[in-house]
Amino acid sequence: MLFGRKDRNPIRIADKKVVEWKYTTCGYCSTGCSIEVGLNAEGNAVASRGHAEADVNRGKLCIKGIFEHELFDSAGRGDKPLVRDKTFDAYQESTWDAALDTMADKIKGIQEKYGRDSFAVVSTGQILTEEFYTLGKLVRGCIGTNNYDGNTTLCMASAVSGYKRSFGSDGPPGCYEDFDHTDCLIAWGSNLPEQHPIIYWRLKEALEKRKFPLIVVDPRVTMLAQFADIHLPITPGTDVVLMNSLMHVILDEGLEDRAYIEAHCNNFEALAEEVAKWDPVRAQRVCGIDEDTIRNVARLYAKSGRAMSIWTMGINQSTHGSDGVTGINSLNLITGNIGKPGGTSLSITGQCNAMGTREWSSCSGLPGYRALENPEHREEIAKFWGIDSSFFPEKRGLFQTDIFPAIETGQIKGLWLVATNPMTSMPNTARTRKILEKLDFLVVQDCYSDVETTEYAHMFLPAAVWAEKTGTFTNTERRYNLVRPAVKPKNTSKADFDIFRELATRFENGQKIHFPETPSGAFEEMKQLSKGAGRTLDISGMSHDKIEQARGIQWPYREGAEGLKGDQRLYTDGKFQTENGKANLIPLAFVDNNEVPCDEYPFWMNSGRVVEHFHGRTRTGKLGNLNKFSPTPYMEMNPDAAKKLGIKHQSYVRIVSRRGDAVVLVQLTQRVPSNMVFIPFHFYDCVNRVSLGLLDPYSRQPAFKQCSVKIEHVDQDEAGRLNVERRSF
Ligand code: SF4
Repeated sequence: MLFGRKDRNPIRIADKKVVEWKYTTCGYCSTGCSIEVGLNAEGNAVASRGHAEADVNRGKLCIKGIFEHELFDSAGRGDKPLVRDKTFDAYQESTWDAALDTMADKIKGIQEKYGRDSFAVVSTGQILTEEFYTLGKLVRGCIGTNNYDGNTTLCMASAVSGYKRSFGSDGPPGCYEDFDHTDCLIAWGSNLPEQHPIIYWRLKEALEKRKFPLIVVDPRVTMLAQFADIHLPITPGTDVVLMNSLMHVILDEGLEDRAYIEAHCNNFEALAEEVAKWDPVRAQRVCGIDEDTIRNVARLYAKSGRAMSIWTMGINQSTHGSDGVTGINSLNLITGNIGKPGGTSLSITGQCNAMGTREWSSCSGLPGYRALENPEHREEIAKFWGIDSSFFPEKRGLFQTDIFPAIETGQIKGLWLVATNPMTSMPNTARTRKILEKLDFLVVQDCYSDVETTEYAHMFLPAAVWAEKTGTFTNTERRYNLVRPAVKPKNTSKADFDIFRELATRFENGQKIHFPETPSGAFEEMKQLSKGAGRTLDISGMSHDKIEQARGIQWPYREGAEGLKGDQRLYTDGKFQTENGKANLIPLAFVDNNEVPCDEYPFWMNSGRVVEHFHGRTRTGKLGNLNKFSPTPYMEMNPDAAKKLGIKHQSYVRIVSRRGDAVVLVQLTQRVPSNMVFIPFHFYDCVNRVSLGLLDPYSRQPAFKQCSVKIEHVDQDEAGRLNVERRSF
């Protein structure tokens, strides 16, 4: 196939000899793109393409999706279960039966000796929803530990917490189609072109058809900020101040939607009292945005008629991430911008199935947004699963970020990690390493045996990857989409679904609880549990076949629903999931509790993504084209700041914090101000050697993006030596 001018350097696309295309859904980010994987005559996956009739991506894929078929045969895939008695002894290959017997015995042994909660489980946002539901059954119903969480605490916990506090329930109320209706959009700490390229393409398409102001709040001149009408380069950690000040102007100038507030909101007076303190003159001194710009943005937003906010980690990964989410929700509530086309608070989720774990994994409660704290919910699920409700704890246990300190202090002795790699993803790598070394028993279950955390494990279980399995993902806009297997699981790896089912048979309650043999059987159970008057998370009208036919269906989609479209928006009737049906306006006091630059450590350190990589590079680091475009950790630094320190473009430097240091290559750019550096977070042994990660009090999410550092010279030889030493543990 040829593209471009026929007679001069045409681009030639190799014929991959595809004989069949298999439907599936991308397994990286939360956009939820429908993909077709091309198989050749030998049944090997040789190509990926976007599905032209999928509403989400309409034939498009980003660079990660385009090369996703290369995952199946990428380096480092797990071969067989591996076991060893002590960390750093040589691993021995095992059979599945022997490994799962040992695992069950070890879990029971630890629980008998130290109590049920002394064994912890941390899962992911990467596996399929039917797998999450099955894992929840196993952990809540059979193993019975309350220290069970997902790695989504590192990315979306603040959004969940903020939605619950404002609206009484989790669940993003908007959708991508809101871009086609909105008259003003604020992106808070969200760099769509690199994080979610296809959502960005949807936004750009909407902007090309119908111009509306795009306002980006970000301390760095991100790619999205470059395309914005207004960029607000906020001082890190002060979002709440800017939100309060925007609301101050709106109320001061009478731009609020009084009728909506009176009909649908609680607590307006308390909110008004707090925001009254944040006159833009005072706010500008804290948040770094001048008073005129604050007033201009407040008026644009409130007067537009239909305004929406999106956000990602710039809000969530903060010591006040949950407050920031409630602040965005309040801004939308007082302007009447919830539940209407173009008026919404839309968190842009991180991982492909962060939503699925929120909905069905039971890690923060019980399946289908049920709460352990609610006796009726405990009774309902216990009855459905066939066990006694007294087996369940009466409130949720530790978050992931509290599980690790509990290992440090000896309360937790054993840990099972499912598709998550804390050696790369947790803040303060040195502390994480010491914590993992303290465990009596650590199991790593992953598609790749070479994930860094396996170094510290006693057992490795090889899991099947992405489209070697069947099940659903939920995307950012509450859309279920289907993953069909394109190929069989590699080597002896098993679908996580089967690993959970087989482990369950080794526990007493595993004999009582029915574990369906297929993902569609688990989906049927989820459907039954989702039914109910007033429930928003209702999927009772869906089936795997219907989802594929529609190329994704949003919830709620109730039994008997006509057509193949679920509800696009939540709260269209202004009724929320709170006791009195009204949304909560929450006053936000600004708490300045984070590490800030000082004489010794004069730079802010900020972190974020590059388009080529996903999270800890477990997958994208193995794929030639992705790694080729982004092979090495680097640090953006302002040229003026670099000049003062005598630092040159493309030289190595050492970045040092109170926790540790890392060696990085310098890229000089005006994208960062002179008191800030930026490092992509994907690389092992890099940014998290330095990060602090203080926790949000509600969501327990770490503030990865805020700490202070200094920059030191290293010569090239020393940089090489440090890198070798660091990678040899
Ligand atoms: Fe996959 Fe996200 Fe890229 Fe779509 S935008 S192809 S879901 S990584």
